Parts: sequence; C-alpha cells; structure tokens
Amino acid sequence: MKQQLPSGEEQSPDRKRLIIASNNAGKIREFKELLSPYGFEVISMRDAGFNGDIVEDGETFEENAHIKARTVFEATGEPTIADDSGLEIDFLDGAPGVYSARYAGENATDEERCAKVLNEMHGVARELRDARFVCTLYFVYAEDDEYSVRGEVNGYIGYEPQGKNGFGYDPIFMLNDDESMADLDEGEKNRISHRAMAFRKLSEILKEKFS
Ligand code: IMP
Repeated sequence: MKQQLPSGEEQSPDRKRLIIASNNAGKIREFKELLSPYGFEVISMRDAGFNGDIVEDGETFEENAHIKARTVFEATGEPTIADDSGLEIDFLDGAPGVYSARYAGENATDEERCAKVLNEMHGVARELRDARFVCTLYFVYAEDDEYSVRGEVNGYIGYEPQGKNGFGYDPIFMLNDDESMADLDEGEKNRISHRAMAFRKLSEILKEKFS
C-alpha cells in the first residue's frame, strides 16, 4: 500500500527532485555534490516522507540496491536512487561482499573489520590476494523504467593497514605496491573510486532522462 506523503506542491517546477534511498548524512552529501550542479534537488528518504524499515536481504549488491530503490519509489512515487557497495576478495569467494558493513558484527569498528580480513588472509600469497571495491547504483525513474550501473576498482589485500585517509577497508586495500586507498586524499579517491565510476555512468542516464 502507498504511504500518504506530502504532495510536493511547494517544490519549484524547474528543480528535478531525486530521492536517495538512505538517511546516511554522508551519502546524501555525496549525492548532492554530484547532482546539484545539474540542477537536481537531492532529498533523503526521510525528508521525502518515508520512515519505513528496509530489509537488505539480497545476495548481490545489485539486489540490495534494487530492493532499496524500489521500496522507496513505491512509497513516494518519485524518481529514486539507491546504492550498495562493498569489498570482494577472490580468495574468500567474494566475501565480505554484501556483508561488508557488518562483517565483524553489527557494532564492530572499521579497525576490527580490517583486522578480521587480515587475519583470514594471513599467509596467503600475493597472487591470491586480488580484491575489488564495488559500487552499484540503482535508479528507478518510473514503474517500468529502471537502471542499474556498477563501478569497480581493482587492487589487492595488503599485509598490514597503511594510510590515514578514507574509511572502511581503505587501509588494507592496495592499489599498487606503494599505495593503499587510504593513502589517497579525498579528491584523488573521488576521481578513481568505484563510487566515482558508478556515479559517472549514472549521471549520463540522468542527463538523458531529464533533458
Ligand atoms: P553500504 O554501501 O553503506 O551498505 O556499506 C558498504 C560497506 O562497504 C561500508 O561500510 C564499508 O565497510 C565498505 N566500503 C564501501 N565503500 C568503501 C570504500 O570506498 N572504502 C572502504 N570501504 C568501503
């Protein structure tokens, strides 16, 4: 059943509203930075009137992003974007994958998650340490009009944490033998990251849809 939501009468007709299926302030800010220059008004799902829970029980990044975007689109009736991202390690058969955020338990810290991975990779040879960061964005424009894009960045799992920037698994993700993802400053990371690549692909679709 559709939730009763604000009509949006107050919205300016020349702003293009996009709902982000998240309440994470960092994520909303990132989407705003990317999409405001194109004249989009970026709104969190809470500000769009959606307060429900979303169970992310998909087995892939695509499935989880789809579940989130579809749920919020169905409630709001407005174009909605959701993302899902994480780290895949070949030696661990793709883990932590969709469990990246809670790999060491719900309340674990980034340090604890990195330590768990390093422990599981202990003694594993360099050629078996390949890994990638993945970001999937799912965009529901209308009932039968939806898009999925994926960005990836390849690297390998280091032997100890390195670098002071970034978040999550950045310190154990080596881009090459000298640099971890956490060695990059924000601007450098935003140019090469999995998220940046997915965003680039999505902005092409948005420009076409709203032109
Ligand atoms: P979600 O996309 O918010 O569900 O969280 C994905 C999880 O994957 C994060 O909590 C991080 O642990 C990890 N992750 C996603 N992107 C990055 C990144 O750019 N650097 C480091 N870790 C990341």
